[in-house]
Amino acid sequence: MFVTGGVSSSLGKGLTASSLGRVLKARGLHITMCKLDPYLNVDPGTMNPGEHGEVFVTEDGGETDLDLGHYERFIDENLSRNSNTTTGSIYSSVIEKERRGDYLGRTVQVIPHITDEIKDRIRRLESDDVDVVIVEIGGTVGDIEIVPFIEAIRQFRREIGRDNVCYVHLTLVPYLAPSGEQKSKPTQHSVAELRSQGIQPDVIVCRSDRFIEPDMKRKISLFCDVPMEGVISAIDAPSIYEIPRVLHEEGLDTYVCERLRIDLEQYPIDLTQWQQVIDSVDAATTPVTIGIVGKYVDMSDAYLSVVEATRHGGFHHGAKVEFVWIDAEKVPSEIDVEHLAALDGMIIPGGFGERGVEGMIAAARIAREIGLPTLGICLGLQVMCIEYARDVAGLDGANSREFDSTSPHPVIDLMSDQVGIVNKGGTMRLGAYPAMLQPGSQMAAIYGSTVVSERHRHRYEFNPRYRARIEEAGLVCSGDSPDGRLVEFIELPGHPYWVGTQAHPEFKSRPERPHPLFRELIGEALARAEGRAPHLIAPESIER
Ligand code: GLN
Repeated sequence: MFVTGGVSSSLGKGLTASSLGRVLKARGLHITMCKLDPYLNVDPGTMNPGEHGEVFVTEDGGETDLDLGHYERFIDENLSRNSNTTTGSIYSSVIEKERRGDYLGRTVQVIPHITDEIKDRIRRLESDDVDVVIVEIGGTVGDIEIVPFIEAIRQFRREIGRDNVCYVHLTLVPYLAPSGEQKSKPTQHSVAELRSQGIQPDVIVCRSDRFIEPDMKRKISLFCDVPMEGVISAIDAPSIYEIPRVLHEEGLDTYVCERLRIDLEQYPIDLTQWQQVIDSVDAATTPVTIGIVGKYVDMSDAYLSVVEATRHGGFHHGAKVEFVWIDAEKVPSEIDVEHLAALDGMIIPGGFGERGVEGMIAAARIAREIGLPTLGICLGLQVMCIEYARDVAGLDGANSREFDSTSPHPVIDLMSDQVGIVNKGGTMRLGAYPAMLQPGSQMAAIYGSTVVSERHRHRYEFNPRYRARIEEAGLVCSGDSPDGRLVEFIELPGHPYWVGTQAHPEFKSRPERPHPLFRELIGEALARAEGRAPHLIAPESIER
């Protein structure tokens, strides 16, 4: 299934594709998904999150588009680095092949060489365990960059057969207030553009702020040559997790299965599990305020998985999370203890570069001193260690070598310096790594296990030369890499929740299975909000 978008960007193509994946999965089909991005960057790893949103990391260490996060959260399947391809990576492998002489001196062209490479990338996802591959094409039909992708997916249909391909096109049906009517013209133009490139959509999903009436559907059906059942009204939903149900109620999965000759009786829908997610969203009403201290506070997509994982933690406790975005550069000059004390919990998320770091350190200190439940993620853990080293362990000028190459106490340093790898950075620890948690620790209690695996994306590590000194001062390194060389988790006894992880737990949270660290953050935040005693877990509950 190919999902394209027209009329405008930001219509929620990723969420529509994810929701489609979920309803097909609810029919018992095995789904995988991928995103083809028409930009020239080889991968999103180096792109500015303030502009492009977060970089989502897969189990195998792929640095991918944030839509993959939606895919994983909706279809509840782990994807891989192969699940995201960009124009940059396609050109780069075609050019590499050309340099190697693989094309035997022939002229290398967009058609067929680039389009063949695109099709190969899609075929890589084929496996015995997969019934349907959903491929989302980034960008908007009509963009110059998208043309080779559209051509490739057109050819795809010829190669695997008409009945094995379904084209879904997402458009916008605006409502014009002065005339009081919905307009189909943008949809008509967008479909005309798609058809001019050889693709007749099977389904048109119409985004709109109100229901699309049968008369309007009839009109779109007629002008765009799609049967009425293929015109789907995708009205704005109160929560993204409602979208699968909205699309199912519109008959999208039934129609798509018919198009693909999938036997509806063999694959009946069972949305019970997803309905539980929707119910948990609806039941999440107790307000809880969580501050996020970062540098991309104007662009919440920069922390998309953190936000979703925090919401999931709320679903578990029946709590609705209100986010307070705290610009790290304003701490503590404009945002100080008074403001932070008004929060119920705080997150210091991942990040790169020096900007805002001193503010994060100040925020971590305030949170430690006032007992504010705080979760430090990756850079967040590093910031907490720096703060503790400076203020409690008496290591003046402690810092990360990322921010101060002349620090007298580089408590955070390049791992290459620590483990003797002759590589000065440029390499990151990416993807899933196991960690061993200390039996009896808060961390082991939260996870309910002493062996865990989390995804990573960082260069710097806790410097083991300072471990004894900092632990003597009271901070507990409660989780290590299996060889004991790298610190993975920290916690502070006596504080309700001042914990950090070198990993990115947000990538593994699912609406039906909130990640333990976020679940616990919300639990402690609620305890604070309600003035209850902090919920410290009894060590007996730990599985050893
Ligand atoms: N900049 C830090 C590092 O490279 C933290 C990275 C992150 O938070 N993802 O180690």
